[in-house]
Amino acid sequence: MSEAGWTRTTCPYCGVGCGVLARPREDGSAEIKGDPEHPANFGRLCSKGSALGETLSLDDRLLHPIVDGQRTSWDEALNLVASRFSQTIAEHGPDSVALYVSGQILTEDYYAANKLMKGFIGTANIDTNSRLCMASSVAGHKRAFGSDTVPGCYEDLDEAEAVVLVGSNLAWCHPVLYQRLRAASQANGTKVVVIDPRSTATCEIADLHLPIKPGTDVALFNGLLTHLARKGQLDEQFVARSTNGFKDALATAEMTCGEVAAITELPEAQIRQLYDLYCTTQKIVTIYSQGVNQSSAGTDKVNAIINCHLATGRIGKPGASPLSVTGQPNAMGGREVGGLANMLAAHMEIDNAEHRRIVQDFWQSPHIAQRAGLKAVDLFKAVGDGRIKALWIMATNPVDSLPDADRVREAIAGCPFVVVSDVTAATDTAALAHVLLPSAAWGEKDGTVTNSERRISRQRAFLSAPGEAVADWWQIAEVAKRLGHGALFSYQDASEIFAEYAELTGTDNGGTRDLDISPLANLTAAEYAELAPFQWPLTGANAAPRKRMFGDGHFYRPDHRAQFIPTPYRPPQSTVDEQFPLVLNTGRIRDQWHTMTRTGKTSRLMSHIAEPFVEIHPEDAAGRQLEAADLAIIESGAGRALARIAISERQRQGSVFVPMHWNDQFAREARIGAAIFANTDPVSGQPELKHTPVRVSRFETAWQAFAVTLAQPNLSQFDYAAAARAGAGYRIEMAGCTEPDDWTALAHAILDPGNTSIDLLAYHDRANVGYRFAGFSGERCVGLFYAARGPVSVARSWAIEQLESAVPPEHRLRLLAGRPGADAVDRGPIVCACFGVGANEIIGAIKEKGCRSVEEVGTCTNAGTNCGSCRSEIGRLLTSMHLDRAG
Ligand code: SF4
Repeated sequence: MSEAGWTRTTCPYCGVGCGVLARPREDGSAEIKGDPEHPANFGRLCSKGSALGETLSLDDRLLHPIVDGQRTSWDEALNLVASRFSQTIAEHGPDSVALYVSGQILTEDYYAANKLMKGFIGTANIDTNSRLCMASSVAGHKRAFGSDTVPGCYEDLDEAEAVVLVGSNLAWCHPVLYQRLRAASQANGTKVVVIDPRSTATCEIADLHLPIKPGTDVALFNGLLTHLARKGQLDEQFVARSTNGFKDALATAEMTCGEVAAITELPEAQIRQLYDLYCTTQKIVTIYSQGVNQSSAGTDKVNAIINCHLATGRIGKPGASPLSVTGQPNAMGGREVGGLANMLAAHMEIDNAEHRRIVQDFWQSPHIAQRAGLKAVDLFKAVGDGRIKALWIMATNPVDSLPDADRVREAIAGCPFVVVSDVTAATDTAALAHVLLPSAAWGEKDGTVTNSERRISRQRAFLSAPGEAVADWWQIAEVAKRLGHGALFSYQDASEIFAEYAELTGTDNGGTRDLDISPLANLTAAEYAELAPFQWPLTGANAAPRKRMFGDGHFYRPDHRAQFIPTPYRPPQSTVDEQFPLVLNTGRIRDQWHTMTRTGKTSRLMSHIAEPFVEIHPEDAAGRQLEAADLAIIESGAGRALARIAISERQRQGSVFVPMHWNDQFAREARIGAAIFANTDPVSGQPELKHTPVRVSRFETAWQAFAVTLAQPNLSQFDYAAAARAGAGYRIEMAGCTEPDDWTALAHAILDPGNTSIDLLAYHDRANVGYRFAGFSGERCVGLFYAARGPVSVARSWAIEQLESAVPPEHRLRLLAGRPGADAVDRGPIVCACFGVGANEIIGAIKEKGCRSVEEVGTCTNAGTNCGSCRSEIGRLLTSMHLDRAG
């Protein structure tokens, strides 16, 4: 689907699933804009989506198959993978091999991978990094509805009178959906409630924020169920006609407001406000995300929320539903084709003999896995203890993203045979592979993804794959052929896989399963190319898509009734004590994605937050003699990470927040996964990534430094370091525990690692550990280096702009000052990534131009006028400036 060179495709980042229009440029980048016709975003994109065109460079791409560090042919690499898998299976059985895939791959890739493992190798040891993202929602849906069905849709945000967000920083993690909610709230007066231990950017639009004690959401929703029953707010007809188990669930939930307050540490008045809202508002949507799912009680949290919606009949109706929003672009597609170790394709159950028969007959496969395979955390434990001896990792980076990440690294390093398929070899996981297989990236591959509202959209290629990169499904199919299953994996393109999958959804279905797209089973390649976004299932005589499910009270349990699940409150698995008194919460930041393999490629997205940080409440910081911008050690019984201190009242006292993104490619010792215990939810197997007891202490250093340089820095020489793309080169924060013997040699090593004889201008203040260097090649500034005893005070945005600029000799001393002269501007830290507007420019607009609202700042500076993700930061600057003035 291409108009005037534009290709319609879908964003590869979050589960909102925004439509994108892309048009390649001659320099290898691409023009990107939101697709105004896509129903998920109607033309809007967030900062990440808008910057997609800047992430297409080939500099870090894996272009050829590699075996043991040597380039090889596809044939040799695939022969090796097939023979090692086959030999391992012959010697140790099918459960001795595993595949670990990703919500980044397309539905067709997922389908082929599952078919190979569950149908032909005969093991269900295939799991996905989506286990870390939404497995608790899957388990909660299945317990309640009998199927993994999202009942609602995005339109419900426009229709609702109130939206309650639980454990979801929608503003940063699903920004386009957040903008839709903000618009609805402005236009219709939709009430917004945020339930989150932190006061996040999402709270900008909240009428009520409940800073709940981490891990206690079940108690809050049990109390709500009790309250709804006591106030006579149940839909008794719906409960009687369409559900089972209400009495047991209510009996388990029984809890007074006072008891809820004691557990959640919320004021009773706030709790009552929330409960009254559910009593007085018919159209209410409860959105939940990782704050609910990533918990050792994640599945119970999901069911406690669903119980309240079932009890009031608010499910699958316009503006009234629970709505789980997924983190990854194709977590939903993976669920649909059985990407989780405990499911079969087309939403069929591995524990159901009839389902196993249907799938095996359809695939004409020699076996079908008879029982669930190992879920992500257990799968890597099995790699570590030698039960799994051959492992294929596809499009994900478990060395950084899994909990107890150092053990995961040791496990992979010790595994006899590791294959990694990815677009880049520059990941901490790829570094451990025996075989590296180059995959086609976003913009080069073809297939489908499903977003959080069951909408299937096409990802289309608009670039040719570089080098020898190929689709992931092709790699799977080629290994299948070499294992002797060629006839059943002889796909010519992704459309054939999609058609096969569509046919399976209708096979022996007869309305017994939720997922049915079988009217597309005969789709031709040309029709697949033109496939417009649609929501499954396709039902009825016209095969019409369905926006909402369950509004008719028909569910997919055997008696077609929904099941209330008793959800007794239990605290998180590991609790704080004197040694580890703070709760570590991890999550995403506005402009980064996963382990930064794509978003880390553009300086625009690195300009908002360029360094790992630990956000801590002022009281907790003061009690530990920690000051803003100190470096800190975050340490648990599992391991540790280093990050910069950010003190903020938005953080709940007793909790700290660290972003999940940083890893060894971008920093030194900042993998926060190393500090997280591998505790999991007993039903879903999802790890508890938001509740680890830790201590935070100052990381004592003899010096700290900031540099900008054209050369890619080597971080391993420092005790702490974090690097990011910046302007024409890189920015680096670094620190050491002992002073270097020779500062000039260190500055040379950073600014001129290629030893090209640059001119180095220096300023030394030995007594105060003040060392500054500016490097020049001719008139051109090629790097700046500033060191101090503690955190370095430098105008960083300005310093980055000096790279590659021509600086006449008479102006060079200015660079050593680390600040612009009166004739230049220091934009300050970048707030608006879309337009590169810095904090100082916004402050200038407030001070000098009298801006009094986010909109006025936008008119003056453009900040906040594209994706809107920075609006809450602009709002905070406005508040603090006006408070300053009032004071
Ligand atoms: Fe992509 Fe942003 Fe849309 Fe998510 S909200 S799909 S990251 S453009």
